[in-house]
Amino acid sequence: MSAPQGPKDRKPEPPVRLRTRRPCPLCQQPSKQKYHPFCSARCADIDLHRWLGGQYAIPAADPPDFDDAGEAATGKRDDGADSA
Ligand SMILES: [Zn+2]
Repeated sequence: MSAPQGPKDRKPEPPVRLRTRRPCPLCQQPSKQKYHPFCSARCADIDLHRWLGGQYAIPAADPPDFDDAGEAATGKRDDGADSA
C-alpha cells in the first residue's frame, strides 16, 4: 500500500510588512531613516553618550537643575557651652 502523499498545500505567506514607524525614543519626533531610529544626529549622539557614559548626558540641552543654593556646610549648632 503506497498512498502517494502530495505536497502539503502550503499557501505562500505574504511578506510581512513591518512598518514600525516608531518615533524618536528621545524626543518622540518622527525618526529619519538616516538617523534611525532617531530623528536627528543630535538625538543619536545623545543616546550614544548615554551608552558610553552609562548615564544620562545631554549635550547642549536643558541643563539639570543644579540646586546648590546655600549648600555650604555651615554647622550652626550650639554645641556645648552649657555651664551650670
Ligand atoms: Zn529625536
